[in-house]
Amino acid sequence: MAQETLFTKIINREIPADVVYEDELCICIRDIAPKAPVHVLLIPRKPIPRLVDASEADRELLGHLMTRVGVIAKDLGIEEAFRVIVNNGEDAGQTVFHLHLHILGNKQYSEDQLGF
Ligand code: AMP
Repeated sequence: MAQETLFTKIINREIPADVVYEDELCICIRDIAPKAPVHVLLIPRKPIPRLVDASEADRELLGHLMTRVGVIAKDLGIEEAFRVIVNNGEDAGQTVFHLHLHILGNKQYSEDQLGF
């Protein structure tokens, strides 16, 4: 059996986390090392390692995640300005190999170096 990811352990309540949203398909937790005043991670319960590993069978799940982003952003009061980031692969900064969407809000992104 594949080794459990950190996020599977959080989903299974083996490791504590600050849960801001959950339903039958996904869970959303506050990032332990926030990179913005609001920084949460939206994680499917299904342990897809990377975005590139998602298949046609995951179409509905991925759509569900994207529609949850707006709901969660409104709940957290950041709906006017937030970013959604998915790191795919180690060289892109992925450290936990269980697909997750970073939702970052309440930051002046126009001042960022990247500027996109
Ligand atoms: P990534 O680098 O895209 O794989 O993102 C992994 C994220 O998980 C990082 O932003 C970490 O700060 C975050 N993280 C690691 N451990 C925990 C934890 N126990 N609870 C919440 N977030 C975590």
